[in-house]
Amino acid sequence: MKRKHLLKPVKQQKIALERINILFREAKSMFREDPRLSDKYARLARKIAMKYKVKIPARYRRNFCRHCLAYLMPGKNLRVRAQRGHMVYYCLNCKHISRFVYNK
Ligand SMILES: [Zn+2]
Repeated sequence: MKRKHLLKPVKQQKIALERINILFREAKSMFREDPRLSDKYARLARKIAMKYKVKIPARYRRNFCRHCLAYLMPGKNLRVRAQRGHMVYYCLNCKHISRFVYNK
């Protein structure tokens, strides 16, 4: 019986999550050299997340624009401002504003 290729969803999700982690790490390290490549990685990571129905880890969720899906680097294509109770993320790529509520 050839069943090795039929991975259990849980295992697939774990692999998907690993790939997402790798993609965001790569996106970060590539940004200085080629921001467009970082965008590609961020999009790919999001695609994987949707396909396997996994959540993008919280630490990466703010690293890309929800609107244009560009990889965001504070001080480069992202402006972060703190307002009462929340953070305002302004994507300089598409001018989209995202707000995140403080967890503390
Ligand atoms: Zn954007």
